[in-house]
Amino acid sequence: MSEKEKSQAELLSEKILSDKKNAGLRMSDEQIAEADAFCEGYKAFLNTAKTEREAVIEAVKQAEAAGFRRFEKGKKYQPNEKFYFVNREKAIILGVMGSEDISTGVRLAAAHIDSPRLDLKQNPLYEEKELALFKTHYYGGIKKYQWPTIPLSLHGVIVKGDGSKIAVSIGEDESDPVFCITDILPHLADEQMRRPAPKLIQGEELNILIGSRPFKDDKISNKVKLNIMAILNEKYGIVEDDFISAELEAVPQFKARDVGFDRSMVGSYGQDDRVCAYTALQAILDCDSPKKTCLTILTDKEETGSDGNTGLNSSYLPYFIADLAKPFGYEGREIISVSECLSADVNAGVDPTFSSPFEIRNASQLNYGVVATKFTGARGKSGTSDASAEFVGRIRKLFDDNGVIWQTGELGKVDAGGGGTVAQYIANLDFDVIDVGVPVLSMHAPFEITAKLDDYMAYKAFCVFFAD
Ligand code: MN
Ligand code: MN
Repeated sequence: MSEKEKSQAELLSEKILSDKKNAGLRMSDEQIAEADAFCEGYKAFLNTAKTEREAVIEAVKQAEAAGFRRFEKGKKYQPNEKFYFVNREKAIILGVMGSEDISTGVRLAAAHIDSPRLDLKQNPLYEEKELALFKTHYYGGIKKYQWPTIPLSLHGVIVKGDGSKIAVSIGEDESDPVFCITDILPHLADEQMRRPAPKLIQGEELNILIGSRPFKDDKISNKVKLNIMAILNEKYGIVEDDFISAELEAVPQFKARDVGFDRSMVGSYGQDDRVCAYTALQAILDCDSPKKTCLTILTDKEETGSDGNTGLNSSYLPYFIADLAKPFGYEGREIISVSECLSADVNAGVDPTFSSPFEIRNASQLNYGVVATKFTGARGKSGTSDASAEFVGRIRKLFDDNGVIWQTGELGKVDAGGGGTVAQYIANLDFDVIDVGVPVLSMHAPFEITAKLDDYMAYKAFCVFFAD
């Protein structure tokens, strides 16, 4: 339609009313192909890095290949020098030094690499009814009923009595065995089906089946347990007490897959928040000769409230910035107070089947681009950093000027529930912060869904933030 044929109202509407469109309509075929190709690397990352420790290992590997080197405390970094700092094998900060003096502040993208899962208890192994099982303690916010009857793999580390440490990953290789939590058959579920939903499967029922064959000896009881321990002793050289000093995480075994006939989506465990971790990681790896010093932090413990020395409610980030700034003669706080952060975490995309908790005018939608969330939290905006109009305005302009397709999004209706991110902890340090991330369906479920175009736009958003 030519301009002449448009009515005055149509022209005015175009000029002054909001008109967001699906990214699939706004992007060229070439851009869409680029986004799809980008997500091949993302799916590989999801399969390789299922836990925070594995994500750190993979990030270090990719960083080393891209010319990043282990951070040296006391070194005065030169423009475009690239470095990374690992915190206790569970969190990592990667950086590229800017050409401007560091006193003008840093650009930080902050994502988390821990995801909801089932941790083994410290005394996990037992036998009952001649079956061997592991006791678990769930980590993060899960709907417990989603975890039985799916194949699980086991990842983590065991520190033995002599202090040596071994890494464990069982179930990912096609030839590996997997593990499983059982559920009662519907025929006999009368009692269970009368339970309220939060108790349908209870915490102490998340027991993982790990074996059923007895050790051939009539002299002792618990022969199945002994047989399992004998296998573990032979393979890893561990004894039962070694579980006390172990961190073993049960996660869904299945691999990341394309979802939909059009292959437009990614389905996988752990996309909260590995979708932002991967995109923020790629953005810093691709960051070249920035003006400001740019940092990506991939942190641990977000899903349990960010407490602990690998979470962002601890001091490891401000300590690191202080170490980076000191050789230049500055205090850490002088840098932080003029710094900006994109808190890179997912938001809830509108689910057509469960749309009632969403306030449709302010909810994010799949394929509408990366989500900029002014505030999260619950009730009367508690437990959040509410980004200032000025900072939202700055980020909005940055994205618009650089072709980043983005949307705004509130986490559900007022009083429908709520949730938080690391934004508040970073803001409390005196950064300017806004949440920027990808909309997800079935968040915190064993198989979460994102749209490839949104995943790619998150990467672009972090890239333009670093390049600005
Ligand atoms: Mn998250
Ligand atoms: Mn989460």
